[in-house]
Amino acid sequence: MLIGLGGTIAMASSAGAVVPALGAAQLLAAVPGLAGVGVDVEVLDFRQTSSASLSFDDLLGLAAVLDALDGVDGIVITQGTDSMEETGYLLDLVYRGDTPVVMTGAMRAASLAGADGPANLLAAVRTAISPEARGRGVLVVMADEIHAASRVRKTHTTSVAAFRSPDGGALGEITEGRVRFAGAMTARRTVATPALDPRRPRVRVALLTMALGDDGTLVEALLRDDAWHGAVIAGFGGGHVPAGVVPALRRLATRMPVVLASRTGAGPVLTSSYGYPGGEVELLAAGLIPAGMLDPLKARVLLHVLLAAGVPGAEIAPAFADAVR
Ligand code: ASP
Repeated sequence: MLIGLGGTIAMASSAGAVVPALGAAQLLAAVPGLAGVGVDVEVLDFRQTSSASLSFDDLLGLAAVLDALDGVDGIVITQGTDSMEETGYLLDLVYRGDTPVVMTGAMRAASLAGADGPANLLAAVRTAISPEARGRGVLVVMADEIHAASRVRKTHTTSVAAFRSPDGGALGEITEGRVRFAGAMTARRTVATPALDPRRPRVRVALLTMALGDDGTLVEALLRDDAWHGAVIAGFGGGHVPAGVVPALRRLATRMPVVLASRTGAGPVLTSSYGYPGGEVELLAAGLIPAGMLDPLKARVLLHVLLAAGVPGAEIAPAFADAVR
């Protein structure tokens, strides 16, 4: 099954700049060598948009579609690469099936020289029908590499090799049409899927990146505004903030779950190394929740899903501890 959501892979030129234009059937028709794989692919056009405009509700609706699919050997989802590290992780958290779900996209639009969409789609189809992909949750296949959606990041604005898993590396690769996994994955974590009830209050989780000279004004703004249900702080280094921000964060943590992550892009948030004012030891003692190995974007997705699923406050820190990979 191929499900299309839009993105560069489905974009073609319109008055000089590219916009979403191609449906899933057109994407398949552009893949040389697909017939040789010997697989019947059904298509579903689920959305036709840039990936920055996908919403949590879009993705939870897609998860419901995945759950209802019966009798398919594998599922490929095409979408824009911009938000794939978030959407892939969200689907990984809420999808409980064993059927492989493989996300892919393109860094170069279909109308550009050297478009990478067809090769990525072919590699994604091969991965989705691989028996070895079963039970691994949601995978991201780009540039002939297989990544866990729970770890992958988009690390470049234009390179066809933009997708990297800084903690642990790729899970496998596709060479000469053969799918090879390097090893087993650690256990996945799933979360009860939040009901798609339009009357459900919207969950809002803020993401604040700490930067040189931050004096806490942004955190104070969150404290004054009732719109927020949780926050992720992307701290310096191992999870640090300027000393002057601590009092506001301390107050924020009494009002909502506040998760501490690192803005560095790799490695765990620390828990017991730095004891100076604004260090992680003080912040965790003030009630912030360590994000473990999750980067700030993925930590925000997990916190959103936990809050939307109605997970009680006391269970949020254990859920983060459990999500570490
Ligand atoms: N702007 C595009 C999107 O994410 C980029 C891409 O698909 O690579 O929709």
